[in-house]
Amino acid sequence: MTNRTGRHFLQIPGPTNTPLPILAAIAKPTIDHRGPEFAKLGLEVLTGIRTIFKTSGPVIIYPASGTGAWEAALVNTLSPGDRVLMFETGWFATLWNKMAKRLGIEAEFIKGDWRSGVNADAIEARLAEDKAHTIKAVAVVHNETSTGATSNIAAVRRAIDNAGHPALLLVDTISSLGSIDYRHEEWGVDVTVGGSQKGLMLPPGLSFNAISDKAVAAAKKAKLPRSFWDWEDMLAINEKGFFPYTPSTNLLQGLSVAIQMLHEEGLDNVFARHDRAAEATRRCVHHWGLEIQCQNPQEYSSSLTAVRLPEGYSADGLRAEILTRCNMSLGNGLGPLADRVFRIGHLGDFHDLMVTGVLSGVEMGLRVCGIPHQSGGVEVAMNYLSGNARATAQAAE
Ligand SMILES: *Cc1c(COP(=O)(O)O)cnc(C)c1O
Repeated sequence: MTNRTGRHFLQIPGPTNTPLPILAAIAKPTIDHRGPEFAKLGLEVLTGIRTIFKTSGPVIIYPASGTGAWEAALVNTLSPGDRVLMFETGWFATLWNKMAKRLGIEAEFIKGDWRSGVNADAIEARLAEDKAHTIKAVAVVHNETSTGATSNIAAVRRAIDNAGHPALLLVDTISSLGSIDYRHEEWGVDVTVGGSQKGLMLPPGLSFNAISDKAVAAAKKAKLPRSFWDWEDMLAINEKGFFPYTPSTNLLQGLSVAIQMLHEEGLDNVFARHDRAAEATRRCVHHWGLEIQCQNPQEYSSSLTAVRLPEGYSADGLRAEILTRCNMSLGNGLGPLADRVFRIGHLGDFHDLMVTGVLSGVEMGLRVCGIPHQSGGVEVAMNYLSGNARATAQAAE
Protein backbone atom coordinates (compact mmCIF):
# COMPACT_ATOMS: atom_id res chain seq x y z
CA MET A 1 0.00 0.00 0.00
CA THR A 2 2.91 2.34 0.64
CA ASN A 3 4.81 2.40 -2.65
CA ARG A 4 2.35 2.91 -5.49
CA THR A 5 3.76 3.61 -8.92
CA GLY A 6 2.81 6.70 -10.91
CA ARG A 7 1.94 10.17 -9.79
CA HIS A 8 -0.66 10.53 -7.07
CA PHE A 9 -3.91 12.22 -8.15
CA LEU A 10 -5.18 14.32 -5.26
CA GLN A 11 -8.75 14.90 -6.38
CA ILE A 12 -10.44 15.55 -3.06
CA PRO A 13 -12.18 18.92 -2.71
CA GLY A 14 -9.30 20.27 -0.67
CA PRO A 15 -6.48 20.12 0.07
CA THR A 16 -5.78 20.51 -3.64
CA ASN A 17 -2.70 20.04 -5.82
CA THR A 18 -0.04 22.65 -5.09
CA PRO A 19 1.68 23.95 -8.26
CA LEU A 20 5.49 23.73 -8.39
CA PRO A 21 6.13 27.52 -8.28
CA ILE A 22 4.20 27.67 -5.00
CA LEU A 23 6.02 24.62 -3.59
CA ALA A 24 9.33 26.24 -4.59
CA ALA A 25 8.42 29.46 -2.76
CA ILE A 26 7.44 27.51 0.35
CA ALA A 27 10.74 25.57 0.20
CA LYS A 28 12.81 28.76 0.38
CA PRO A 29 14.58 29.36 3.70
CA THR A 30 12.44 30.78 6.48
CA ILE A 31 13.14 34.48 7.03
CA ASP A 32 13.07 36.60 10.20
CA HIS A 33 9.41 37.46 10.71
CA ARG A 34 10.40 40.66 12.53
CA GLY A 35 13.02 41.73 9.98
CA PRO A 36 12.83 44.23 7.10
CA GLU A 37 12.57 41.57 4.39
CA PHE A 38 9.44 40.20 6.03
CA ALA A 39 7.67 43.57 6.16
CA LYS A 40 7.75 43.65 2.38
CA LEU A 41 6.28 40.13 2.13
CA GLY A 42 3.72 40.87 4.84
CA LEU A 43 2.43 44.02 3.13
CA GLU A 44 2.43 42.25 -0.22
CA VAL A 45 0.22 39.36 0.92
CA LEU A 46 -1.99 41.45 3.20
CA THR A 47 -2.86 43.81 0.33
CA GLY A 48 -2.77 41.14 -2.40
CA ILE A 49 -5.26 38.85 -0.69
CA ARG A 50 -7.84 41.66 -0.67
CA THR A 51 -8.06 41.41 -4.46
CA ILE A 52 -8.99 37.72 -4.16
CA PHE A 53 -11.77 38.42 -1.64
CA LYS A 54 -12.74 41.48 -3.74
CA THR A 55 -12.58 43.90 -0.84
CA SER A 56 -10.80 47.16 -0.13
CA GLY A 57 -10.93 46.43 3.61
CA PRO A 58 -8.62 44.40 5.84
CA VAL A 59 -8.11 40.65 5.61
CA ILE A 60 -6.73 38.94 8.72
CA ILE A 61 -4.42 35.97 8.09
CA TYR A 62 -4.15 33.25 10.75
CA PRO A 63 -1.65 30.39 10.99
CA ALA A 64 -4.55 27.95 11.31
CA SER A 65 -6.85 25.69 9.31
CA GLY A 66 -10.24 27.02 8.19
CA THR A 67 -11.87 25.91 11.44
CA GLY A 68 -9.77 28.51 13.28
CA ALA A 69 -11.05 31.29 11.04
CA TRP A 70 -14.66 30.10 11.68
CA GLU A 71 -14.03 30.53 15.40
CA ALA A 72 -12.36 33.91 14.85
CA ALA A 73 -15.40 35.17 12.90
CA LEU A 74 -17.71 34.26 15.79
CA VAL A 75 -15.65 35.29 18.83
CA ASN A 76 -14.70 38.68 17.39
CA THR A 77 -18.25 39.75 16.59
CA LEU A 78 -20.53 38.17 19.20
CA SER A 79 -21.23 38.04 22.93
CA PRO A 80 -22.29 35.10 25.10
CA GLY A 81 -25.98 34.28 24.55
CA ASP A 82 -26.22 36.21 21.27
CA ARG A 83 -28.55 34.67 18.71
CA VAL A 84 -27.18 33.62 15.30
CA LEU A 85 -29.20 32.36 12.34
CA MET A 86 -27.61 29.55 10.32
CA PHE A 87 -28.77 27.34 7.45
CA GLU A 88 -28.25 23.58 7.21
CA THR A 89 -26.71 23.21 3.74
CA GLY A 90 -24.70 20.12 4.80
CA TRP A 91 -21.83 18.88 6.92
CA PHE A 92 -19.77 22.09 7.04
CA ALA A 93 -22.76 24.26 7.97
CA THR A 94 -23.52 21.69 10.69
CA LEU A 95 -19.98 21.85 12.09
CA TRP A 96 -20.05 25.66 12.19
CA ASN A 97 -23.41 25.52 13.95
CA LYS A 98 -22.06 23.08 16.56
CA MET A 99 -19.04 25.31 17.11
CA ALA A 100 -21.28 28.33 17.71
CA LYS A 101 -23.23 26.40 20.35
CA ARG A 102 -20.03 25.26 22.06
CA LEU A 103 -18.93 28.88 22.26
CA GLY A 104 -22.11 29.79 24.15
CA ILE A 105 -23.97 31.33 21.20
CA GLU A 106 -27.70 30.67 20.68
CA ALA A 107 -27.34 29.22 17.21
CA GLU A 108 -30.60 28.66 15.32
CA PHE A 109 -30.40 26.22 12.43
CA ILE A 110 -32.89 26.38 9.57
CA LYS A 111 -33.39 22.83 8.37
CA GLY A 112 -32.05 21.97 4.92
CA ASP A 113 -32.14 18.87 2.72
CA TRP A 114 -28.37 18.56 2.02
CA ARG A 115 -29.23 18.67 -1.69
CA SER A 116 -29.46 22.41 -2.29
CA GLY A 117 -28.09 25.74 -1.06
CA VAL A 118 -29.35 28.37 1.36
CA ASN A 119 -33.02 29.29 1.05
CA ALA A 120 -32.84 33.09 1.22
CA ASP A 121 -36.64 33.37 1.57
CA ALA A 122 -36.50 31.31 4.77
CA ILE A 123 -33.79 33.63 6.11
CA GLU A 124 -35.90 36.67 5.24
CA ALA A 125 -39.02 35.21 6.88
CA ARG A 126 -37.18 34.42 10.11
CA LEU A 127 -35.54 37.86 10.25
CA ALA A 128 -38.86 39.60 9.56
CA GLU A 129 -40.31 37.84 12.65
CA ASP A 130 -37.44 39.07 14.77
CA LYS A 131 -38.82 42.55 15.40
CA ALA A 132 -36.69 43.00 18.53
CA HIS A 133 -33.53 42.28 16.53
CA THR A 134 -32.34 39.58 18.90
CA ILE A 135 -30.54 37.88 15.99
CA LYS A 136 -27.07 39.40 15.81
CA ALA A 137 -25.70 37.55 12.79
CA VAL A 138 -26.63 35.37 9.84
CA ALA A 139 -23.91 32.79 9.12
CA VAL A 140 -23.93 30.68 5.94
CA VAL A 141 -21.62 28.54 3.83
CA HIS A 142 -21.12 29.80 0.25
CA ASN A 143 -19.96 26.50 -1.25
CA GLU A 144 -21.08 23.47 0.79
CA THR A 145 -18.20 21.06 0.23
CA SER A 146 -20.11 18.01 1.51
CA THR A 147 -22.84 18.27 -1.15
CA GLY A 148 -21.47 20.41 -3.98
CA ALA A 149 -24.12 23.13 -3.70
CA THR A 150 -23.20 26.81 -4.07
CA SER A 151 -25.50 29.35 -2.44
CA ASN A 152 -26.44 32.77 -3.77
CA ILE A 153 -24.85 35.14 -1.26
CA ALA A 154 -26.20 38.27 -2.97
CA ALA A 155 -29.70 36.82 -2.38
CA VAL A 156 -28.93 36.29 1.33
CA ARG A 157 -27.78 39.92 1.52
CA ARG A 158 -31.06 41.04 -0.12
CA ALA A 159 -33.03 38.89 2.33
CA ILE A 160 -31.41 40.68 5.28
CA ASP A 161 -32.01 44.09 3.67
CA ASN A 162 -35.62 43.27 2.71
CA ALA A 163 -36.32 42.35 6.33
CA GLY A 164 -34.78 45.69 7.37
CA HIS A 165 -32.63 43.73 9.81
CA PRO A 166 -29.28 44.92 11.21
CA ALA A 167 -27.74 41.41 11.63
CA LEU A 168 -24.16 40.92 10.49
CA LEU A 169 -23.57 38.60 7.53
CA LEU A 170 -20.86 35.96 8.04
CA VAL A 171 -19.94 33.72 5.10
CA ASP A 172 -17.67 30.68 4.77
CA THR A 173 -15.98 30.74 1.35
CA ILE A 174 -13.30 28.16 2.18
CA SER A 175 -13.98 25.89 -0.83
CA SER A 176 -15.01 28.63 -3.28
CA LEU A 177 -12.40 31.39 -2.88
CA GLY A 178 -10.22 31.40 -5.99
CA SER A 179 -12.54 28.89 -7.76
CA ILE A 180 -16.00 30.47 -7.86
CA ASP A 181 -16.72 34.20 -8.09
CA TYR A 182 -16.95 35.75 -4.64
CA ARG A 183 -17.42 39.44 -3.83
CA HIS A 184 -16.97 40.33 -0.17
CA GLU A 185 -17.54 44.06 -0.57
CA GLU A 186 -20.17 44.15 -3.32
CA TRP A 187 -22.31 41.56 -1.53
CA GLY A 188 -22.09 43.45 1.75
CA VAL A 189 -20.55 40.57 3.69
CA ASP A 190 -19.26 41.50 7.16
CA VAL A 191 -16.92 38.58 7.79
CA THR A 192 -15.75 36.20 5.09
CA VAL A 193 -13.95 33.05 6.22
CA GLY A 194 -11.36 31.57 3.84
CA GLY A 195 -8.71 28.85 3.89
CA SER A 196 -5.46 28.22 2.03
CA GLN A 197 -5.78 24.60 0.89
CA LYS A 198 -8.56 24.74 -1.67
CA GLY A 199 -8.85 27.29 -4.50
CA LEU A 200 -5.74 29.12 -3.33
CA MET A 201 -3.71 25.98 -4.17
CA LEU A 202 -1.60 26.13 -1.00
CA PRO A 203 -1.08 23.39 1.56
CA PRO A 204 -3.33 23.59 4.65
CA GLY A 205 -2.27 25.96 7.40
CA LEU A 206 -3.49 29.47 6.60
CA SER A 207 -6.97 30.86 7.06
CA PHE A 208 -8.58 34.25 6.64
CA ASN A 209 -11.17 36.69 7.91
CA ALA A 210 -12.06 39.46 5.45
CA ILE A 211 -13.84 42.08 7.57
CA SER A 212 -16.12 45.05 6.99
CA ASP A 213 -16.20 48.33 8.96
CA LYS A 214 -19.43 47.11 10.57
CA ALA A 215 -17.65 43.94 11.73
CA VAL A 216 -14.77 45.99 13.17
CA ALA A 217 -17.31 48.12 15.05
CA ALA A 218 -19.11 44.98 16.32
CA ALA A 219 -15.76 43.62 17.58
CA LYS A 220 -15.39 46.64 19.86
CA LYS A 221 -18.54 45.54 21.74
CA ALA A 222 -18.32 41.75 21.37
CA LYS A 223 -17.69 40.01 24.70
CA LEU A 224 -16.88 36.41 23.83
CA PRO A 225 -13.43 35.62 25.27
CA ARG A 226 -10.67 35.71 22.66
CA SER A 227 -6.93 36.12 22.61
CA PHE A 228 -5.19 34.26 19.78
CA TRP A 229 -8.04 35.19 17.40
CA ASP A 230 -8.34 38.84 18.41
CA TRP A 231 -8.57 41.12 15.38
CA GLU A 232 -7.47 44.25 17.22
CA ASP A 233 -3.88 43.12 17.84
CA MET A 234 -3.68 41.86 14.26
CA LEU A 235 -5.03 45.01 12.63
CA ALA A 236 -2.67 47.29 14.56
CA ILE A 237 0.55 45.51 13.65
CA ASN A 238 -0.56 44.37 10.14
CA GLU A 239 -0.37 48.03 9.10
CA LYS A 240 3.41 47.67 9.06
CA GLY A 241 3.32 44.23 7.45
CA PHE A 242 3.98 42.33 10.69
CA PHE A 243 2.00 39.91 12.87
CA PRO A 244 1.50 39.84 16.67
CA TYR A 245 2.88 36.28 16.87
CA THR A 246 4.92 34.09 14.54
CA PRO A 247 3.05 33.75 11.23
CA SER A 248 3.38 30.76 8.88
CA THR A 249 6.29 32.48 7.16
CA ASN A 250 6.84 29.87 4.45
CA LEU A 251 3.15 29.54 3.64
CA LEU A 252 3.00 33.32 3.25
CA GLN A 253 5.90 33.04 0.77
CA GLY A 254 3.70 30.56 -1.11
CA LEU A 255 0.62 32.78 -0.79
CA SER A 256 2.43 35.62 -2.50
CA VAL A 257 3.08 33.39 -5.53
CA ALA A 258 -0.47 31.96 -5.46
CA ILE A 259 -1.95 35.47 -5.65
CA GLN A 260 0.36 36.32 -8.57
CA MET A 261 -0.61 33.11 -10.39
CA LEU A 262 -4.34 33.76 -9.98
CA HIS A 263 -3.94 37.26 -11.40
CA GLU A 264 -1.68 36.15 -14.24
CA GLU A 265 -4.41 33.76 -15.37
CA GLY A 266 -7.08 36.36 -14.56
CA LEU A 267 -9.75 35.65 -11.93
CA ASP A 268 -12.53 35.48 -14.53
CA ASN A 269 -10.54 32.91 -16.52
CA VAL A 270 -9.91 30.94 -13.33
CA PHE A 271 -13.66 30.85 -12.63
CA ALA A 272 -14.46 29.91 -16.25
CA ARG A 273 -11.91 27.07 -16.10
CA HIS A 274 -13.65 25.72 -12.98
CA ASP A 275 -17.12 26.09 -14.57
CA ARG A 276 -15.94 24.15 -17.58
CA ALA A 277 -14.39 21.29 -15.58
CA ALA A 278 -17.55 21.07 -13.49
CA GLU A 279 -19.78 20.96 -16.59
CA ALA A 280 -17.62 18.24 -18.17
CA THR A 281 -17.79 16.24 -14.94
CA ARG A 282 -21.56 16.55 -14.65
CA ARG A 283 -22.12 15.54 -18.29
CA CYS A 284 -20.00 12.46 -17.64
CA VAL A 285 -21.87 11.60 -14.43
CA HIS A 286 -25.23 12.04 -16.15
CA HIS A 287 -24.10 9.74 -18.95
CA TRP A 288 -23.10 7.11 -16.41
CA GLY A 289 -26.67 7.39 -15.14
CA LEU A 290 -25.56 8.29 -11.62
CA GLU A 291 -27.22 10.97 -9.56
CA ILE A 292 -25.61 14.25 -8.53
CA GLN A 293 -26.14 15.08 -4.85
CA CYS A 294 -27.07 18.73 -5.56
CA GLN A 295 -30.57 18.74 -7.04
CA ASN A 296 -30.76 22.37 -8.13
CA PRO A 297 -28.83 22.99 -11.38
CA GLN A 298 -28.57 26.69 -10.53
CA GLU A 299 -26.63 25.76 -7.42
CA TYR A 300 -24.27 23.18 -8.95
CA SER A 301 -20.82 23.79 -7.54
CA SER A 302 -17.97 24.56 -9.92
CA SER A 303 -15.33 23.35 -7.46
CA LEU A 304 -16.60 19.84 -6.72
CA THR A 305 -19.24 17.32 -7.71
CA ALA A 306 -20.74 14.92 -5.16
CA VAL A 307 -22.01 11.74 -6.83
CA ARG A 308 -24.53 9.32 -5.31
CA LEU A 309 -24.24 5.60 -5.81
CA PRO A 310 -27.27 3.38 -6.36
CA GLU A 311 -28.72 1.76 -3.23
CA GLY A 312 -26.65 -1.20 -2.04
CA TYR A 313 -23.28 -0.07 -3.46
CA SER A 314 -20.41 1.27 -1.36
CA ALA A 315 -18.86 4.63 -2.27
CA ASP A 316 -15.99 3.93 0.14
CA GLY A 317 -15.37 0.58 -1.55
CA LEU A 318 -15.22 2.35 -4.91
CA ARG A 319 -12.81 4.98 -3.57
CA ALA A 320 -10.56 2.30 -2.06
CA GLU A 321 -10.46 0.40 -5.37
CA ILE A 322 -9.58 3.58 -7.29
CA LEU A 323 -6.85 4.45 -4.79
CA THR A 324 -5.29 1.00 -5.10
CA ARG A 325 -5.45 0.81 -8.89
CA CYS A 326 -5.00 4.40 -9.98
CA ASN A 327 -3.30 6.07 -7.01
CA MET A 328 -6.09 8.61 -6.96
CA SER A 329 -7.81 10.02 -3.87
CA LEU A 330 -11.47 11.05 -4.14
CA GLY A 331 -13.48 12.79 -1.40
CA ASN A 332 -15.57 10.67 0.97
CA GLY A 333 -19.20 11.17 1.91
CA LEU A 334 -19.50 13.19 5.13
CA GLY A 335 -21.92 12.62 8.03
CA PRO A 336 -25.16 10.99 6.80
CA LEU A 337 -23.68 10.79 3.28
CA ALA A 338 -20.86 8.47 4.41
CA ASP A 339 -20.43 5.56 1.99
CA ARG A 340 -23.43 6.82 -0.06
CA VAL A 341 -21.58 9.55 -1.93
CA PHE A 342 -18.11 10.18 -3.32
CA ARG A 343 -16.85 13.62 -4.20
CA ILE A 344 -14.75 14.66 -7.19
CA GLY A 345 -12.68 17.76 -6.49
CA HIS A 346 -12.14 19.88 -9.62
CA LEU A 347 -10.64 22.95 -8.05
CA GLY A 348 -7.27 24.63 -7.87
CA ASP A 349 -4.44 23.71 -10.21
CA PHE A 350 -5.69 21.46 -13.04
CA HIS A 351 -6.17 21.24 -16.80
CA ASP A 352 -8.38 19.26 -19.20
CA LEU A 353 -6.21 16.16 -19.14
CA MET A 354 -6.45 16.00 -15.35
CA VAL A 355 -10.24 16.34 -15.55
CA THR A 356 -10.59 13.53 -18.10
CA GLY A 357 -7.94 11.50 -16.27
CA VAL A 358 -9.93 11.70 -13.06
CA LEU A 359 -13.14 10.71 -14.84
CA SER A 360 -11.34 7.77 -16.51
CA GLY A 361 -10.20 6.55 -13.09
CA VAL A 362 -13.75 6.76 -11.77
CA GLU A 363 -15.22 4.99 -14.81
CA MET A 364 -12.68 2.16 -14.47
CA GLY A 365 -13.51 1.92 -10.78
CA LEU A 366 -17.24 1.66 -11.52
CA ARG A 367 -16.47 -1.15 -13.94
CA VAL A 368 -14.21 -3.05 -11.54
CA CYS A 369 -16.66 -2.71 -8.66
CA GLY A 370 -19.60 -3.84 -10.78
CA ILE A 371 -21.55 -0.66 -10.10
CA PRO A 372 -24.32 -0.30 -12.72
CA HIS A 373 -23.57 2.54 -15.14
CA GLN A 374 -23.59 3.35 -18.83
CA SER A 375 -20.00 3.30 -20.09
CA GLY A 376 -18.65 6.11 -22.27
CA GLY A 377 -19.00 9.00 -19.82
CA VAL A 378 -15.39 10.03 -20.36
CA GLU A 379 -16.08 10.27 -24.11
CA VAL A 380 -18.94 12.66 -23.37
CA ALA A 381 -16.64 14.78 -21.19
CA MET A 382 -13.95 14.80 -23.90
CA ASN A 383 -16.48 15.85 -26.53
CA TYR A 384 -17.64 18.71 -24.36
CA LEU A 385 -14.12 19.86 -23.49
CA SER A 386 -12.76 19.64 -27.04
CA GLY A 387 -15.84 21.21 -28.62
CA ASN A 388 -15.83 23.95 -26.10
CA ALA A 389 -12.08 24.51 -26.51
CA ARG A 390 -12.55 24.96 -30.28
CA ALA A 391 -15.44 27.34 -29.80
CA THR A 392 -13.37 29.38 -27.33
CA ALA A 393 -10.41 29.54 -29.72
CA GLN A 394 -12.67 30.63 -32.59
CA ALA A 395 -14.24 33.34 -30.47
CA ALA A 396 -10.76 34.67 -29.66
CA GLU A 397 -9.71 34.89 -33.35
C1 LIG B 1 -12.59 22.55 4.15
C2 LIG B 1 -13.73 23.32 4.69
C3 LIG B 1 -13.80 23.74 6.03
C4 LIG B 1 -12.83 23.27 7.09
O1 LIG B 1 -11.62 23.80 7.00
P1 LIG B 1 -10.39 23.12 7.77
O2 LIG B 1 -9.24 23.76 7.07
O3 LIG B 1 -10.50 21.65 7.60
O4 LIG B 1 -10.47 23.51 9.20
C5 LIG B 1 -14.85 24.54 6.40
N1 LIG B 1 -15.81 24.90 5.54
C6 LIG B 1 -15.80 24.49 4.26
C7 LIG B 1 -16.89 24.92 3.35
C8 LIG B 1 -14.76 23.70 3.80
O5 LIG B 1 -14.76 23.26 2.53
